[in-house]
Amino acid sequence: MIRAALCGHSHAELRNLLAPLPSFRADQIFQWMLRGAESFSVMSNLPRAVREDLDRNFTIYAGSVEKRISDPDGTIKIRIVFPDGAGIESVLLVDASGRNTACLSTQSGCPLGCVFCKTGRLGLRRNLTAAEIVEQLFHLRLIEPDIANIVFMGMGEPLLNFDSLRQAIEIISHDSVFSPRRITVSTAGIVPGIRNLGDSGLNVRLALSLTTAEPVLRNRLMPVTAANPVPDVKESLLYFQHKTRRRLTLEAVLLRGINTRILDAQSIAEFARGLDVVLNVIPWNPVPGLDEEFHAPSGREIAAFTGYLKEKGLNVTRRFRRGTRVAGACGQLGADPT
Ligand code: SF4
Repeated sequence: MIRAALCGHSHAELRNLLAPLPSFRADQIFQWMLRGAESFSVMSNLPRAVREDLDRNFTIYAGSVEKRISDPDGTIKIRIVFPDGAGIESVLLVDASGRNTACLSTQSGCPLGCVFCKTGRLGLRRNLTAAEIVEQLFHLRLIEPDIANIVFMGMGEPLLNFDSLRQAIEIISHDSVFSPRRITVSTAGIVPGIRNLGDSGLNVRLALSLTTAEPVLRNRLMPVTAANPVPDVKESLLYFQHKTRRRLTLEAVLLRGINTRILDAQSIAEFARGLDVVLNVIPWNPVPGLDEEFHAPSGREIAAFTGYLKEKGLNVTRRFRRGTRVAGACGQLGADPT
């Protein structure tokens, strides 16, 4: 018998799952899980009979952490496997000022097939449930309780699993008292999903993996462009910004000799016109199996690319590589560490 997992559910769901236990017991159990309890036996304010009954019928986590790898730069990647065999990876990133960010997955694999991304090469296994999305945060909090930001930039396209994403954000921001302002959803550019997110009232930040706004090249690198053309993506961002008044992040993974041309920089400057954005430039992270086809850009390419965009008045930041040695950096999830 597969025992139901309790972690990652809202208060209301927990009360239902645990009925006929009184709702104050469900609240006590929720508080224990928030504090990082890994077994029912430590829940000392529950009668022993209740703890034993919980142990027979439930688990705390649905997934088990099969692998944990640490990078000397502080990044930690965990691989979680669920009872049906679906695997995901989640990453804890530490920035230069010591703030921790949890990078969570929304799908096992990804259907979008961006050609420079390891996860895209895996294809989609399945969507995650809201509880499976939230559970990742709990696993990471067992490693580092003080998490400042959450980014949905792990495996999968969050806006193709919108209902679970929405429910997960509601659980995280309501029950864990984690401000939605510290949550960023990153999309490859799903037009209806961006509009839905704008309408949702979730009040989270949005990042677009743009890579290039030159339509032919973008379509080649990110096949999602065929069904979500660049002008339509821009329209949806204008809509999102109109609804939320939030600054957007554009992300450009730079590939040597491919999307670092002035033409690509021009296309991004044009795309950004009329939007309140910051552009995050990310030198491509090597991925085993893809490193014959793609290469990280040279320092000179990055300088020329970012220099052009800064001249055009764009707010450009460069994301320094973190977690590359554990294959936990952008585009590397699902890759074995080298
Ligand atoms: S970059 Fe993101 S959207 Fe594209 S294949 Fe990888 S995980 Fe999917």
